Amino acid sequence: MIQSDSHVHTSFSSDSSTPMEDMIFRGKSLGLSSICFTDHMDYGFPVQENGMDFLFSVEDYFSKIKELSRKHPDFPIRTGVELGLKKDVLAAALKLTKEYAFDFVIGSTHLVDDIDPYDNEYWENYGEENGIRHYYETTLQNIGEGFDYDVYGHIDYVIRYCPSMNTLLTDVRQTEAFYQKMLKKNQHIIDEILSTLISFGKGIEINTAGWKRGLGHPNPHEAILKRYAELGGRMITIGSDAHETKYLAYDFAKIPALLQSLGFTSYTEFHGRKPIQISLLSYHSL
Ligand SMILES: [Zn+2]
Ligand SMILES: [Zn+2]
Repeated sequence: MIQSDSHVHTSFSSDSSTPMEDMIFRGKSLGLSSICFTDHMDYGFPVQENGMDFLFSVEDYFSKIKELSRKHPDFPIRTGVELGLKKDVLAAALKLTKEYAFDFVIGSTHLVDDIDPYDNEYWENYGEENGIRHYYETTLQNIGEGFDYDVYGHIDYVIRYCPSMNTLLTDVRQTEAFYQKMLKKNQHIIDEILSTLISFGKGIEINTAGWKRGLGHPNPHEAILKRYAELGGRMITIGSDAHETKYLAYDFAKIPALLQSLGFTSYTEFHGRKPIQISLLSYHSL
């Protein structure tokens, strides 16, 4: 199986109440050999009515991981972060990754013009097709801003929340048709995103939350993963984006066969910001 979950949230994230140690117990019980926490750090995120600001105390984060690492010496705990990319927070983001010795940094676009596509307001403002295109355009801009990250997170995040997806989910064929239509319409921008990432030496992730949400695909869609491989990309991390223990390593059993069908022979973990390639050759019998 995949040895480690490289995208995990805990109570250090505004949108999770799961204690870090609960994720560790769960990881051990699932047979993982390590875990990488990637709590949300979204500088400039508009503070929500309930007080959520998607920021955490970095000192507390590192000291908690240190404490738990001492308690669980048999289970390596990597210190990662999911950094929200947004043009006007570049200086704060660069300061964070320069001052703290993270193992792994995921760069993600959660905000477009200060609105999260998770919110209906986004779709009311832009409409569906424009909203999806605008998200990809913003992603492409963010990638070129000079942020310091290892892997770009959930490239087609916007699809998770668009109105059609949410209304069509019960109909697999219609969902798939919509997905394909949106991929085709935005293919040129997605290609540019992928080739830019590859030219910068950045990886992408397979985020299994798409399966969890019933989209029938991981984020990004297999077609995007395939395109990444065709364009020469070889650096893929695997993460569940779990905010609760029950979703840790969600559907990881599907990953080795998927990666092999797309021509990948390995996947990637990050230790001390350095990519480690883990061979998939032992999965041939799957
Ligand atoms: Zn995210
Ligand atoms: Zn996440």
